[in-house]
Amino acid sequence: MQHITLASRPNGAPTLDDFALETGPVPTPGPGEVLVRVHYMSLDPYMRGRMDEGKSYTANIPVGGTMEGGSVGEVIASNADGFQPGDFAFGPFGWATHAVAHAKMCRKVDPDSAPITTSLGVLGMPGFTGWYALHEIGQPKAGETLVVAAATGPVGSMVGQLAKSLGLRTVGIAGGADKCALAVDTFGFDVCLDHRAHPDARSLRKALAEAAPDGIDIYFENVGGKVLEAVIPLMKEHGRIPLCGMIAWYNAGGLGAGAEAAMSVPALWRTILVSHLRVQGFIISNHWDRFPAFLADIAPKVASGDIKLVEDIADGIENAPDAFIGLLEGRNVGKQIVKLI
Ligand code: NDP
Repeated sequence: MQHITLASRPNGAPTLDDFALETGPVPTPGPGEVLVRVHYMSLDPYMRGRMDEGKSYTANIPVGGTMEGGSVGEVIASNADGFQPGDFAFGPFGWATHAVAHAKMCRKVDPDSAPITTSLGVLGMPGFTGWYALHEIGQPKAGETLVVAAATGPVGSMVGQLAKSLGLRTVGIAGGADKCALAVDTFGFDVCLDHRAHPDARSLRKALAEAAPDGIDIYFENVGGKVLEAVIPLMKEHGRIPLCGMIAWYNAGGLGAGAEAAMSVPALWRTILVSHLRVQGFIISNHWDRFPAFLADIAPKVASGDIKLVEDIADGIENAPDAFIGLLEGRNVGKQIVKLI
């Protein structure tokens, strides 16, 4: 079996040298565990944080350890009730061609009801993230205006489509003209702004003020950085900010200098106060109890085509590091996946 390990901790943006492709014996499942041959691996922004020193909301990956992540594959041996060889399962199998995991950490995936890749994106953790946080924290109401960046990614595209279906005006922000066209034409955003076309927050704010002439009720925070700076002064009274992610700062050494340099904390704090904003962070892994309700709502909409998805599939485990670096740089178009078989 092949797996990719963390060769060194990145200093800023990760490079290919921070990863190593290694080979080893296929693991043997212990009691209650399944052995899976991975077909598709998910690449997600949170993995960047796991590469750093120190614990945030969960433990980091030790140098020399296998890169962590969710994958979907075929069960080839099982010591667990409820899983048979031939079943497909999603689980924490890491960046590896074969892996064992306890059955409690795995979810059966039915390949006849949807392509198994959807368990990594639109019907998996990222789609669930958008669904959960929009409803629970965003509290969307018809006629309001929502802004979300990384608008063509699996989180942003779910948020935009759901908000549109609920009667909100949806303003996407994405990197480049092609992604903006995708946001409008495929994901139904009313308008999409290219953050790369704006040299600074002031310029982006001017465009946003035109795109959201009544102000912003919900800012679904995916990126931080220049976009956050542009958005905050345009928030309406009693606006809501589901604080989902801040990818613009993931390479800046956590919440240190990058965050401080990007905006004045006193000014931000004052706006939250005087505009009665509600900002709420969340970690989706604390909310799995709502996952069945998410699937019951969204799986039929994916099947009917009411919820659209776009996937970006890299080929081969050896190309996972480059695809991951690309995800952090915005080279991915849609949910980033790596095909192993
Ligand atoms: P995407 O597939 O959308 O990939 C990340 C995208 O972020 C890139 O394609 C790029 O899109 C955009 N981006 C990168 N750098 C910048 C920047 N400096 N400024 C603006 N945009 C940038 O990611 P996901 O949909 O999987 O995740 C979106 C966010 O949600 C991430 O921050 C992630 O960490 C967070 N998240 C949080 C969870 C939680 O539990 N709180 C769970 C899941 C995700 P573009 O080229 O369009 O700018």
